Amino acid sequence: MAVERTLSIIKPDAVAKNVIGQIYSRFENAGLKIVAAKMKQLSREDAEGFYAVHKERPFFKDLVDFMVSGPVIIQALEGENAVIAHRDLMGATDPKKAEKGTIRADFADSIDANAVHGSDSVENAAIEIAYFFGTEVYSR
Ligand code: UDP
Repeated sequence: MAVERTLSIIKPDAVAKNVIGQIYSRFENAGLKIVAAKMKQLSREDAEGFYAVHKERPFFKDLVDFMVSGPVIIQALEGENAVIAHRDLMGATDPKKAEKGTIRADFADSIDANAVHGSDSVENAAIEIAYFFGTEVYSR
């Protein structure tokens, strides 16, 4: 087992639903520690840079529009196998396909407004944590 860090975002739909605390409880109950956190209104530049890997995808403009539609909460989580543990808590990208009891099954409305983001690998976690918090947060 490896102690990892991962980047989590509570997206504008979930912030607007007032479920930040419920989502944080799920992290804590799963043994994931919040080691950095901030609320931020993303600029278009922030959102476009963060999702740059998707810039050729048909949903890119809608994704950016959604991510700047209200404030988000961004956090770095730390724990045993944090990347996979967090993805398991989140559930599938499309909430209709997400397992019962996952964050997306319980709080997301659609594949576009799907409540949360989570890094998909340890390598991307390092890049994404540095994107929002700088490199000093990632190094333990
Ligand atoms: N997305 C979308 N439509 C799609 C696929 C993805 O709006 O058909 C959005 C969705 O918000 C998703 C994000 O783009 O969370 C990033 O997609 P990815 O495949 O990386 O999914 P994730 O890692 O967030 O589950």
